[in-house]
Amino acid sequence: MTTTYGHLSQVLNDDLNNLKNVEGHFPFKATEYYLSLIDWSDPSDPLRRIVIPSQGELAPWGVADPSREHRYTVLPGLEHKYPTTALLLVSDTCASICRYCFRKRIFQREVKEKISDLDAVMAYLRSHQEITNVLLPPQSRSVVDG
Ligand code: SF4
Repeated sequence: MTTTYGHLSQVLNDDLNNLKNVEGHFPFKATEYYLSLIDWSDPSDPLRRIVIPSQGELAPWGVADPSREHRYTVLPGLEHKYPTTALLLVSDTCASICRYCFRKRIFQREVKEKISDLDAVMAYLRSHQEITNVLLPPQSRSVVDG
């Protein structure tokens, strides 16, 4: 089960309005199990810091695509960076969203980077026999796993 801000208000003493401000840019999502592992009495709990939004995320630094994935995107949701490996983005969310994620841009509502044309992706894979493995990043696996 996934938790939203409504659920968090029961356990967080932080200023939820501030956190909502961050979520306006970078969505929040976490599973109930993950949240159950957090020591809520410790503001620096490492698990808490991984999934709970912080104002620091709004600091104006860094780039939205630090791995330059756009450079290797050959079709929406299909990256082909290394000759024998392709990467498929079949979803634009994770069961829990890590605040440090280098694909954070994908979780923003206005960003559409997941596969939009599966037939075209399959045709590309078939026509590139050098591709011997296809990677599904975590946000894709969360969908495949159901
Ligand atoms: S892709 Fe990985 S790092 Fe990014 S939110 Fe999902 S699990 Fe976390």
